Amino acid sequence: MPKVKDICKVIEDFAPRSLQESYDNAGLQVGDPEMDVSAALLCLDVTEDIMKEAKKRQCNMIVTHHPLLFKGLKELTGRTSTERIVIDAVKSGIAIYSAHTNLDCAWDGVSHEIAHMLKVGNLRVLEPREGNPEAGLGVVGDITPTPKLEFLRRVKETFSVRALRYSAQSPQIVIRRVAVCGGAGASLIGEAIKAGADVYVTGDVKYHDFTAHGLEILIADIGHYESELCSTKIFSRIIRERYPDFVTYFSESESNPVKYL
Ligand SMILES: [Zn+2]
Repeated sequence: MPKVKDICKVIEDFAPRSLQESYDNAGLQVGDPEMDVSAALLCLDVTEDIMKEAKKRQCNMIVTHHPLLFKGLKELTGRTSTERIVIDAVKSGIAIYSAHTNLDCAWDGVSHEIAHMLKVGNLRVLEPREGNPEAGLGVVGDITPTPKLEFLRRVKETFSVRALRYSAQSPQIVIRRVAVCGGAGASLIGEAIKAGADVYVTGDVKYHDFTAHGLEILIADIGHYESELCSTKIFSRIIRERYPDFVTYFSESESNPVKYL
């Protein structure tokens, strides 16, 4: 049976913590690294519902994409849901681990997964780290030429998007080159344009990003949750490659915190 530190190592061999952005706090959030892990629950965010599900499924480790803890906690009184989750995790002996921007920046990480789902080939990193062309945010690559609306419908279906927001003024008719970035990727629109992409698929795009860049590139906002749910597939794949008999569950209680009416 692997220990907490073994599961952490598998993930960090794939997505080293040194790749995370400076504001981030990836890594083991709560728990004893030496504890044996019975099974792991995989999700995007840890919530109180996720804690309940972990107990029900007898998972004593939760692996998430978004970190539970970003800033230091100054008290642990159970006033906020973050504090209640930490208290519950400690009491219940559940370890919580997060791989965030390091998973975004790793080769074959979140943006690659999105690109694979859209059958984009010939991938390279959109904004490579200095000295390491295989690490960084976003990816860009090519697809078989596809009419714009057909491509957008494919994106909507692939990621189960309730309402896909896209730039109305974009002149692109046929999509050949695709740039993607999981999560809130609007800051890389310029890189996508520079890379010659016909479309940029990401989440959390603001109105003014559409007005500023919509004439240069087709922007498709598929939602933050929708774009990053695939991170759990990466966790499952890399953990089970190393520990084929180890049980991982995709969370059933996780749902989009944003609703569309
Ligand atoms: Zn995110």
